[in-house]
Amino acid sequence: MHGRAPLQTQWQPFAGIDSGMNAHIHDGNLLHPPAAEDIIELDRTFGTRFLLFVDTEEEFDWGAPFSRTAHSVTALKGLEQGQAYFAAAGIKPVYVTDYPMLENEDVVAMMAQWVADGSADVGAHLHPWVNPPFVEEVTRANSYAGFLPEEVERAKLQALRDRIHIAFGQAPIAYRAGRYGAGPNTARLLEEMGFRLDTSVRSRFDYSADHGPDFYGMPLDPFWAGPQRSLIELPLSTAFTGLLRGSGQSLYWAAQAMGPMRAALARARLLSRVPLTPEGVPARDAVDAIDALLDTGSRVINLSFHSPTLEPGHTPYVRDAAELSEFYHWWEIVLEHLDRRGVRPATLARFLAAVPPRMQVGEQAACQAA
Ligand SMILES: [Zn+2]
Repeated sequence: MHGRAPLQTQWQPFAGIDSGMNAHIHDGNLLHPPAAEDIIELDRTFGTRFLLFVDTEEEFDWGAPFSRTAHSVTALKGLEQGQAYFAAAGIKPVYVTDYPMLENEDVVAMMAQWVADGSADVGAHLHPWVNPPFVEEVTRANSYAGFLPEEVERAKLQALRDRIHIAFGQAPIAYRAGRYGAGPNTARLLEEMGFRLDTSVRSRFDYSADHGPDFYGMPLDPFWAGPQRSLIELPLSTAFTGLLRGSGQSLYWAAQAMGPMRAALARARLLSRVPLTPEGVPARDAVDAIDALLDTGSRVINLSFHSPTLEPGHTPYVRDAAELSEFYHWWEIVLEHLDRRGVRPATLARFLAAVPPRMQVGEQAACQAA
């Protein structure tokens, strides 16, 4: 087992140390499930929509130890082809972009054009091992920016934000930590730096065995984060599918502890955990996952993948031309299914417009007292 106490099927709202008088003991950090009042109810006119975030980053060997220098930025044609495909499909991707990409003039020129013509948004993506200042040791543990000392995470985030500002003439408002490495200070730092949205929380995944965050028990719905509750968290979408999906999380974790049981359940199509990405997830499973999310009332679906996947040979998911055409075939199936289910694409701006203003912390306390 993972040393977890009671198993649960859904996320449980944060109750706080004193859930009676002081409901605001929650510091807004991204590693704790939000308080019930911080869950965001999207405006009704939004309907049910999906967003696409692309982790836009250098190519490197995903199996090798992290390195400051062992990487390249060459997959521009793939990126261009991907953008053309998504634009034609009516999707405005959010390219959360990391430092090595911003150091490449050709990448910046290409993406600046997309931003200028309104066909894409650019956000921030932090790979601490290749993002200055270079002060920490390069280790697996230090690949999760959120668990670096606060001043190091802040300095790296600032360098990344400023570089994006210089490249595109506007500071980024959306962020995803590399390796989903949000930590206890991340939401506060993002608030300080004027970010409006974080999408680092990968609910239903636990990276703590690898020194990373544990998102077990986090919700799939967007919620307010940060001490000021001015940051919107939009978790990545992951569904449980299969005949036993109702008991999803608890059974999944119980089976995980029993090793081969998890694979057996998936093979028998009894229970699978399906993240909404073309990377390593068959289209049929993604379609089932979309249905599972819609059945449980999800109003926003958050899809993602990594930019090096857009050219053969850079990630484990697209190793040759055949797998690249499978990648696009995956999108054909998934986009057609989303359309059939009435789920339209949303731009980042459309999503933000659907988030009602959060009452100030003081206002809410007064409300509750009245
Ligand atoms: Zn990344």
